[in-house]
Amino acid sequence: MTKQLIFPPKAILESHSFIVDTHCHLCDCLTVHPLLENSREHNVNIIISNATNPCDWEENLTFCEEVHIQYHNLPPDQPLHPSLPFPIPFLGLHPWMIKHQPTTWLDDLRTLLLQYPMCGVGEIGLDKIKIASQKFPDYPTFPMQTAAFRQQIDLAFELNRPCSVHCVRSVGNICDILTKQRNKQRLPPAVILHSYGGPHDFIPLLLEACTPVSTIPPKTKHFHLPKEEVLANSRLFFSFSGTILDKTGRDPLAVCVREIPRDRILIETDAPTFDSMYAAFEEGACSEPASTRLVLKHVTELLNEGRCPAESQEGEHTNDQPLPSEVDNPLLTEQDVIAQMFSTFKRAYSSILTITHKQSDP
Ligand SMILES: [Zn+2]
Repeated sequence: MTKQLIFPPKAILESHSFIVDTHCHLCDCLTVHPLLENSREHNVNIIISNATNPCDWEENLTFCEEVHIQYHNLPPDQPLHPSLPFPIPFLGLHPWMIKHQPTTWLDDLRTLLLQYPMCGVGEIGLDKIKIASQKFPDYPTFPMQTAAFRQQIDLAFELNRPCSVHCVRSVGNICDILTKQRNKQRLPPAVILHSYGGPHDFIPLLLEACTPVSTIPPKTKHFHLPKEEVLANSRLFFSFSGTILDKTGRDPLAVCVREIPRDRILIETDAPTFDSMYAAFEEGACSEPASTRLVLKHVTELLNEGRCPAESQEGEHTNDQPLPSEVDNPLLTEQDVIAQMFSTFKRAYSSILTITHKQSDP
């Protein structure tokens, strides 16, 4: 494989108006090129493409590289009009895939990540539904999943890469592992909990578990970092997928969207999964990166519940001073939410975006 220097065009990163699909699997999508053109039409211009096992890693890299070469070959005065959006590859060993892998998988992953400084670590994680049992004999045991997850989180710390984390019925275990990494001062630069579906009362605990500490904290259950420090420095981010569009699971997720600090929220499709959820939300829609706009639409609506519509702001004005509630809680437009999420994206992924830009400077 040719080793191109992969980095997002600066014009994309300097923009304020792009939607980012922060988690999907382009390797698993059947018709990738038409799907990417569709993404471009819907303003989804950056796509994080995850690979889940060693067989997918090279394929994911090769595909992303092919698209990147198109950007590199554009005339310098025309950096923003390629026909395709910009994919960023992530490589990891998914909790469902741990069995039957070569014993060298972790070293192989390290080698590829070193070759590609722009690559993140994902998809990794824990899944308590898909564990070895009579129902699912082919899945790995929970201790096997935990060992692989720990190794990859530690590798992400060592190589300074963001991680995309699968978390199904394992939020407490993820929180414990992140807390231990924090206490050892070995946290990755960002942990993105993808397709978040955990309970809302874990949100502050997860944020705290992922807040770096300058000294080893005391071993007491009641140790807590100051809230302001957590809000400012936590390395945890929550990404919502098409599951939020599903009527049956919507209410608990709606609470999460409202409770998570706005600068910690990201969105994704997890394409090609959750096809029926996108189709049920909008006729003709399917699970592809372009459908990130549907998640955006719904998250914006949720964030606006209880806020002041623009009309009432105008109608209720009796003098030049806006009412306090209007200042504190104005209605958000989709553009407001896109701008906030794009800035969150740049913050969460800064370790790979800044390294590659430094390398690309003459
Ligand atoms: Zn996934």
